[in-house]
Amino acid sequence: MKPSVILFWFRRDLRLEDNAGLYHALKNALAAGLTVQPLFIFDTTILDALVDKADKRVVFIHQAIERLHAELAELGATLDVRHGVPLNIFAELLNEYDVKGVYANRDYEPDARARDKVVYEYLNEQGIAFRAFKDHVIFEKNEVMKADDSPYTVFTPYSRKWLSQLDDFYVRAYPTRVYLDGFYQQEKRVIPSMGQLGFEPMTVEFPSEELDFGALDAYAEQRDYPALPATSRLGVHLRFGTVSIRQVAAHTRARSAVFLSELIWRDFYQMILWHHPQVVTQSFKPMYDQILWRNQSSEFAQWCAGQTGYPLVDAGMRELNETGFMHNRVRMVVASFLTKHLLIDWRWGERYFAQKLLDYDLAANNGGWQWAAGCGCDAAPYFRVFNPTLQMEKFDPKNEYVRRWVPEFETAAYPEPMVEHRMARERCLQVYSTALKT
Ligand code: FAD
Repeated sequence: MKPSVILFWFRRDLRLEDNAGLYHALKNALAAGLTVQPLFIFDTTILDALVDKADKRVVFIHQAIERLHAELAELGATLDVRHGVPLNIFAELLNEYDVKGVYANRDYEPDARARDKVVYEYLNEQGIAFRAFKDHVIFEKNEVMKADDSPYTVFTPYSRKWLSQLDDFYVRAYPTRVYLDGFYQQEKRVIPSMGQLGFEPMTVEFPSEELDFGALDAYAEQRDYPALPATSRLGVHLRFGTVSIRQVAAHTRARSAVFLSELIWRDFYQMILWHHPQVVTQSFKPMYDQILWRNQSSEFAQWCAGQTGYPLVDAGMRELNETGFMHNRVRMVVASFLTKHLLIDWRWGERYFAQKLLDYDLAANNGGWQWAAGCGCDAAPYFRVFNPTLQMEKFDPKNEYVRRWVPEFETAAYPEPMVEHRMARERCLQVYSTALKT
């Protein structure tokens, strides 16, 4: 006989602790005399699209899944891990379990919304409810709105409203732990290996998920200096939900208003993506799509390789290529350089970051790129062009960061700047102003 269960589908929330959807699944299962079967799907629609089969993000997810699998085994349960297209997987699951409901946490990306709609409709036809919860952000889609109920497009008033609405309720942890004996008890199942998923197994050192409270005190002063270990490096954990955003916000709220503000940016871009999914392919301000980008492939290749002759740009790109991380200040500088100095379409840079960043997140990456190119909501004005040499002097005054990633800096082996700053700046202003006039 098929076991009667509620399925909990893990996606961007790879933890048992303080997990909104899991909490509701376990609580409601208990009330209904049911148990919860946890599920994870290695989605071939996403994995097959990854060109590089040595992908650190897949390693990260695989490790997080192994950890969940071990934690659940200690509770006498197992994580059911599948590999395929979610809709087909659900058809398989309905043959094996008597599914009384499917619970998950909401994912706000357009592709994820489309995936969930298809699964929802399929389950609905079978009379099975699919329930999704807010877990990934503090305030979601339409929870922080203007007085006339329209969405914000400018950060500062959004952030003011966000802060005015924040109280203990929104950062309180869901006590998932209380219900952990509510999982369906079965033998540990086998997880597909990296090789079976079509990816290279790799040894990667990931940032810790611990918040360094010492560093947090210095965050406001030091966060702009890429040579210092002054930022949290929590990006990848927040992306895949190996830490809870509520926990991070609760711990940092009273300690650093500047850090909290970065978490507000995170909610802001998720909100923008929800209300304006067209930003995935278009400039938020449509007239910026008239820019005549130069799009020189050879120049793009130099930028990707960290061979532009601008040390801060090159250090950033080399750090990204080697580790999957780049400091926020440097992300702004390399993005500005690509779009403004080289006049290469921001979408090229966005795509490159999407392939390389460990903490790649569609909403924040798209927002960051459109901000740097000047075409996004509340973006840097287009006529403000970062000078990459001055940025280095200001934020890496002893050249420590640059030397770490560009060992040949200040030797004859280091290339000359690929483009002269003053000329590039003038060219940029001309191309942008022409586009905005037409
Ligand atoms: P911290 O400074 O410790 O910040 C803590 C957390 O706040 C981050 O982990 C992140 O979740 C959030 N956060 C911080 N700054 C921002 C921001 N400007 N927008 C949204 N969330 C923010 N962030 C991503 O998470 N994924 C991306 O793909 C991404 N792409 C970017 C692309 C460009 C061109 C730019 C300019 C910025 C991008 N950012 C992105 C924002 C920011 O650079 C990173 O979040 C940050 O550098 C991650 O390092 P950290 O965890 O040490 O950050």
